[in-house]
Amino acid sequence: MVTATSQPAETAPISTTLYQTVLTQLREVAALLELEPGMFELLAHCKRELMVQFPVRMDDGSIRVFSGYRTQHNMARGPAKGGIRYHPQVSRDDVRGLAMLMTWKCALVNIPYGGAKGGVAVDPKALSRSELERMTRRYASEIAVIIGPEKDIPAPDMNTDAQIMAWIMDTYSQQQGFSVPGVVTGKPIILGGTRGRTEATGRGCMLIAREAAREQGIPLSGATVVVQGMGNVGGVATQLMAQAGFTVLAVSDSSGGLYDPKGLDIPDILRWRQGRSYLSGYPRAERITNATLLELPCDILMPAAMEGQIGEHNAAQVRAKIVVEGANGPTTPEADQILLNRGVTVVPDILANSGGVLVSYFEWVQDLQAFFWEEDEINQRLEKSMVRTYREVVELAQRRNVPLRTAALMLGVQRVVDAIQARGLYP
Ligand code: NAD
Repeated sequence: MVTATSQPAETAPISTTLYQTVLTQLREVAALLELEPGMFELLAHCKRELMVQFPVRMDDGSIRVFSGYRTQHNMARGPAKGGIRYHPQVSRDDVRGLAMLMTWKCALVNIPYGGAKGGVAVDPKALSRSELERMTRRYASEIAVIIGPEKDIPAPDMNTDAQIMAWIMDTYSQQQGFSVPGVVTGKPIILGGTRGRTEATGRGCMLIAREAAREQGIPLSGATVVVQGMGNVGGVATQLMAQAGFTVLAVSDSSGGLYDPKGLDIPDILRWRQGRSYLSGYPRAERITNATLLELPCDILMPAAMEGQIGEHNAAQVRAKIVVEGANGPTTPEADQILLNRGVTVVPDILANSGGVLVSYFEWVQDLQAFFWEEDEINQRLEKSMVRTYREVVELAQRRNVPLRTAALMLGVQRVVDAIQARGLYP
């Protein structure tokens, strides 16, 4: 649950918006796939965008108006799917870019969804629990016109969690007059959530880090890792990588980073952080900034916080062998080029963090069937699917002599194009 404390966030330079980044990537891939200009235009735009301004009664009796978004990029392959983010910097452009990435991601892992994203421009840590609930319910009711289990299925993203999904599911169900568990994924198990969803994205990142290390002949035991962001994605990935024998040199959150050249004691850090909102104050490691963290020598760097963290300003200083993108859009196109020239392998977001949407899909399938699976089965299906997709991407990258990001996007975009062409243009 999001807890209330005030802690100044470190701000990292973000020069390119995520939407610009995603468009640049699409342009490059459209040329390689030889897409006709009209098809590029179609893919470069979002099918449906809803912007809502809504009032919420605050605890002191005042009224505050919030801005929220729900954007559906493309639904040629099925209902739209994508998370909901609460962050002060949420903007229409970010949501567009994130929705587009979801379209490619769902197509890449071959699940029958299109892409969507939503968000509210808010710092949820500055709200009380009851303010957060009222804001979430009102936002859910505002976007209820376009979401639904056959239309668009939200999930958690930055600063949203299973409790927030439960409030959205309940609000939507109240409006329908019956329980609709399939309207969101990432909800509590008691409401039709799935086992393994909370860990899914981080678990997938760990699996991809493992595959990428093997590919480069880096022994897993003792492979050094640096993780930016200790939330749902980074926190779980760090824990699982430490369990798998990786040496975690540094971790961070918005309050800054912790570093130990001999390896951090991850179980101790996670125990210490329980009941606290931030890592700052942990006594048994050196303090570093997020900027320094990104430049530490290591085998694997996993940015798992915000977009635009590795850009033109710092890509030349990244000393990792492999970057595994836990976050969406953490590397700008300029940085991609610099890393490529320096021989750094970048495993792209739509592959590395696809474990979340995969297990969300498993949750939705279980909800529709009202029949629930064991955790082992979920983790096995997750691993099988992620490893298979990783291999497909590596194979295409080698065959076409392109970076992994380009190959992953080529696979995803082509599947969307195939679906659009098979359906034909209406009318
Ligand atoms: P979260 O809110 O659980 O955690 C975010 C973490 O990043 C926190 O530790 C926060 O302190 C830290 N952070 C925020 N700003 C930072 C900054 N400027 N520098 C360093 N650290 C900072 O969010 P999450 O769900 O873990 O999502 C993280 C990223 O992963 C986002 O890009 C999100 O879109 C992506 N993602 C999430 C999921 C999912 O299932 N949750 C799935 C796919 C992709």
